[in-house]
Amino acid sequence: FNNELQRSEKVQIISELAASVAHEVRNPLQVTRGFLQLLSEKSSGDEKEYMFMALSELDRASNIITDFLTFAKPEFEQILILNVYDEFKHIESILLPLCHLNNGKIILDVDNNLWIKGNSSKFKQALINIIKNSIEAFQDDGLIHITAYGNGDKVFIRVNDNGEGMNSDVLLRLGEPYFSQKNKGTGLGLMVTFRIIEVMQGEVVFHSKKGAGTEVVITLPMAAPSGDPHSL
Ligand code: ADP
Ligand code: MG
Repeated sequence: FNNELQRSEKVQIISELAASVAHEVRNPLQVTRGFLQLLSEKSSGDEKEYMFMALSELDRASNIITDFLTFAKPEFEQILILNVYDEFKHIESILLPLCHLNNGKIILDVDNNLWIKGNSSKFKQALINIIKNSIEAFQDDGLIHITAYGNGDKVFIRVNDNGEGMNSDVLLRLGEPYFSQKNKGTGLGLMVTFRIIEVMQGEVVFHSKKGAGTEVVITLPMAAPSGDPHSL
């Protein structure tokens, strides 16, 4: 038990460190990117090619930060009773610009009386990594349909997209670190999602077929509403 405690303290310290590093590193990355972009517009030949490679490596670095630490804050992680509808409203507002840029739509069908227990930043990170994949899988007229409802002592969340879908060999490898089929993918997004939902004592299942879109089903334990004295 003692060892376990030490281990979880270590994990806590590492996550806090990672979060502060992410904050400190994102800005200089963006500034460097700006200057490189300026230089690359003035250069040609080999030089232009090197600039292009440098820019795309910088993008890779910021994508890794996005998949891991979009909301990480260098402070103690709060576990609260979360309202699923409120969380999705926030997630939607963050993803709508990217979704519109890719000519897609999001439909939210989320019951208002669903409660789950967890850390709001982590939950949002888990769902954003899933929905971002849907947006990146868009063909023409992308559509993401998100539904959430309660059944028994469980909350069910479904994310459906009409994107390109996946073969069964891809399905089997989801969540494997660095597994990506994209040019600028990190292969870390779903690994992070699976870990977060596991810590929340939930489950993530993917259904998909190449050319026929993808459905992700997340199941989480239902919590009592916040404000209810029995919940704490
Ligand atoms: P990344 O997005 O950086 O590639 P992820 O872990 O988020 O890494 O996803 C791994 C791979 O799973 C993606 O490269 C993609 O091939 C596949 N994938 C995940 N979600 C979907 C989806 N909704 N539609 C099609 N392919 C998907
Ligand atoms: Mg991804």
